[in-house]
Amino acid sequence: MTVVPDSESTKLRRRFGVAATVFTALFVILMGRYFWIQIVRGDEYRERARVSFTTKERLPARRGEIKDRHGEVLAHNVAHHSLTVLPHALRDPQVRGAVLRRLAIILELTREEREALDAEVVARIDDKRAWQPVTVDEELVSTHCPHDGTLLDLDTGPGAQLLYCSECGLTHEAIDESAARCPYDKRKLTWDSAAHQSASCGKCKRSFVTAPICPNDASLLTAVEHNLSCQSCGRRFTNEVAVLAAHRHELPRIQIAARFGREYPRAFHAAHLVGYINSVTREDRENHPGVYALDDKIGRNGAERAFEAELRGVPGEAEYFKGADKSLRRGFRAAKRGYDVWLTIDSRLQQEMRQALRYHRSGAAVMLDPRSGEVLAMYSTPGYDPGAWSRGLSRQEWESIKGNPYNPMINKALTPYAPGSVYKIVTSLAGLDLGLTTPEETIHCPGHYDYGGRRFHCHYRAGHGAQDMVQALKNSCDVYFYRLGERIGMDRLAHYGEMFGYGLPTGIELSERTGLVPTEGWYESTALGFQPGHTLSVSIGQGSLIATPLQVARSFAALANGGRMLRARIVRQYVDEQGEVVQRFLPVDDGRLVGTPEELAVIREGLVRVVNDGNGTGKEAALDEMVVAGKTGTAEAAEGRRGADEELKRWLKEDHAWFAAYAPADDPQVVVVVFLEHGGSGGKRAAPVAKQLLQSWLRAGYLRPPTVEPDRGASAEGVRGQPRGRP
Ligand SMILES: [Zn+2]
Ligand SMILES: [Zn+2]
Ligand SMILES: [Zn+2]
Repeated sequence: MTVVPDSESTKLRRRFGVAATVFTALFVILMGRYFWIQIVRGDEYRERARVSFTTKERLPARRGEIKDRHGEVLAHNVAHHSLTVLPHALRDPQVRGAVLRRLAIILELTREEREALDAEVVARIDDKRAWQPVTVDEELVSTHCPHDGTLLDLDTGPGAQLLYCSECGLTHEAIDESAARCPYDKRKLTWDSAAHQSASCGKCKRSFVTAPICPNDASLLTAVEHNLSCQSCGRRFTNEVAVLAAHRHELPRIQIAARFGREYPRAFHAAHLVGYINSVTREDRENHPGVYALDDKIGRNGAERAFEAELRGVPGEAEYFKGADKSLRRGFRAAKRGYDVWLTIDSRLQQEMRQALRYHRSGAAVMLDPRSGEVLAMYSTPGYDPGAWSRGLSRQEWESIKGNPYNPMINKALTPYAPGSVYKIVTSLAGLDLGLTTPEETIHCPGHYDYGGRRFHCHYRAGHGAQDMVQALKNSCDVYFYRLGERIGMDRLAHYGEMFGYGLPTGIELSERTGLVPTEGWYESTALGFQPGHTLSVSIGQGSLIATPLQVARSFAALANGGRMLRARIVRQYVDEQGEVVQRFLPVDDGRLVGTPEELAVIREGLVRVVNDGNGTGKEAALDEMVVAGKTGTAEAAEGRRGADEELKRWLKEDHAWFAAYAPADDPQVVVVVFLEHGGSGGKRAAPVAKQLLQSWLRAGYLRPPTVEPDRGASAEGVRGQPRGRP
């Protein structure tokens, strides 16, 4: 392999500046007959070589792609090709002139560029640099638009395909056997025989064939597609790599090097989810003996890390006999490409979630399907550019990330915070299931509750008066839940918290923090010690209780789906190189809520009232299209931070704003959780964001119409013909 010495190369053109590029492999394609003899005719030459030892070369595998649930690409590999020439091979002025003329035509070099290249080559011919390649073009056009990275389309029409003969090195174009004139200049064609198998044009000198057989030597021709256009910017391009390959018989010792870069077309809206890759460390190689080589890349974050084993593929191997004069290939085992990983994420919802959070300094949102546990969207703000991490951060980039008080590198959907009143669904079910209250019992709220020598306030200082469970949920009355929590006790409440998945892994494939559901024992083990008042705090989602937005989403999904604790997932399927689904992931039940359907129905009724009563705490999330059920949370979270300026100090004093919802209330198909770190009031700040996200979900066409029971006597066709939305 030849590595182009960057500092010495002539950077005639650097036309390409795609962000988020990672180099995963470097292959050198050797051009011309030398390659042909070595690789293809290896067997017959091998016998003549004096074999002294063998050597093995590792062939890197291509990394699989990451896609969204509809197949839209979130991470893929883009090949970058560069072209170099060897000054030594261009020693003869006539050869040099011919090669540079040909390159100038194919690459559309200007006169200045061509002269500069000529001067660079000439300057090196007589010293040791004659054997160092000169870079002619760092980014040849092949598959992607050099301006915007869009996958280029093939142009059809005359000359869309060149047919290349690897035996004689000439190219031909396909033509219909009835054609009489050249499609370029209308000159009458000269057919070589009555059979009309090949023709040539006397004016443009093009050669045409009616079948992919070389008229000179009867070899099978290979199709090379070279006229490309970009759908995004409308520019037209020549597939330079293909054309150079087709002309390689005229271009001695030119080298086209291909390296694969990892690119993230949706970099910013799914950074925490998709993650990034970078170089393996010595530690990585020690932890996975035999898996990684020095130049390999490894997933560092998000799905790139979670599905590393599926994505990375299996490297191949080429074995050579090393002769005294040249090395000849013997054995060969092709590399096995990694699987494509299709996520459950909907890229469009993800993008709209990012939009919905853009005016908030810090926070996260989660949208999942309560019937399957599939995460449809999950965004944490502020985000980051995974491409910057893949390329290697500049000092400036690192300083700006490190200096950002809102922690862009943390996925806040998987980081625990005080959940506040969204946790009241746990206290409610515990109270009902343990028989410590009934849906009808009312508890009086004078605005506070004196307990253990301390006054515990309701957020509504004037007092809610008599509250039953539905009213207490709707108004988020703290006194009701203090008194219910007092009856339940810390450890029994913790038991129900865990039943709802709090303090436990959600099953998500990404790395998450599991938060904390405190018990008496836990408090005893801390400097605080246990005091009965802690139970009251935890019963309204405060105290030392912390939970992630995803845990909150999963607990609401269980309430919505009738009690199933479904494992949260972001993977939908693995797909192999042939497009076959290797593994498809189905919903997994990780437990069940206790409680009768009637008990769950009481809590659900409370959540409907939160959003749909004129004075409900979550009325900002109400929609005309469907009935939304939800719960606000406004968690006290004042914190200090060393070195904070005045503005940051003010922000740190604010409450955390939460809103957790599902819809439609009577046939739940989606769960949304919005968390705004120090965002203030849950009802005022988080609920409107949740509403926006539910509107995105509706616009994306996910709502399935209610299943209507067929009338007695309705035909089976009528039932089957019922319209259904997307799953
Ligand atoms: Zn030929
Ligand atoms: Zn373009
Ligand atoms: Zn109250």
